Amino acid sequence: MLLNVSQLTQHYGSALALDGVSFNVEKDSCTAILGRNGAGKTTLLQTLVGVMPATTGKISLDGKDVTTAPSHKRARSGLGYVPQGREIFSDLSVGQNIEIVLRNHRFSEPDTLRDEIVTLFPVLGEMWKRRGGDLSGGQQQQLAIGRALASRPKVLILDEPTEGIQPSIVQAIEDAIRDLKGRMAILLVEQYYDFARSVADDYVVLDRGRVVKAGRGASMDEDDVAAFLTV
Ligand code: ATP
Repeated sequence: MLLNVSQLTQHYGSALALDGVSFNVEKDSCTAILGRNGAGKTTLLQTLVGVMPATTGKISLDGKDVTTAPSHKRARSGLGYVPQGREIFSDLSVGQNIEIVLRNHRFSEPDTLRDEIVTLFPVLGEMWKRRGGDLSGGQQQQLAIGRALASRPKVLILDEPTEGIQPSIVQAIEDAIRDLKGRMAILLVEQYYDFARSVADDYVVLDRGRVVKAGRGASMDEDDVAAFLTV
């Protein structure tokens, strides 16, 4: 297994937001985290990438304990994160958004990586010199994913990448996830059952900060999971 999450707990003040969450993400596969609003999905991702330290529990990436590592070290160790709401640099060009990360990581072949990103999302090549903020929401999501890929992650972590995005771009993102998961692991938070079902090899359902269901994507049953998705 590539990412191992064991008995993770997280608090906001005295409120328990994650309650003993355990699961694994396997190499070259996609794991979907499902659950309704407030279930703890974003809190889980933020705890994994080090936005806030875990209260208790353990996070191992490729055999290395990263539980207390600062977020920039986790990024260097291979956690690539695309937060909800995308958070690209709106005033920089598309190219600059990606180049900043490429330069920061000092890879030996940045050109190859840049080409891979543009092949995955051709629109980024077409809009290379445009301001990030001029892109549509869906294009910004592609840019945010492209920027995360520029750090050559071992695990690409996506928080609701399809939220509020037009269907044609949802399809492009789905195709990209399929393409990428042969090369890296993907951890995806998703509210929509259909999208998760179509890309996930494994799934985990959270409810009130706890894992209430988990299994292979192919065995995920809509009726079974639906009870934990509707408000
Ligand atoms: P959504 O789909 O709405 O993003 P989620 O499953 O990602 O939902 P979280 O945002 O992780 O859920 O929230 C989990 C719980 O923690 C909720 O009860 C939420 O109200 C609470 N919570 C989240 N952020 C904070 C915060 N900054 N301070 C206090 N409580 C918070």
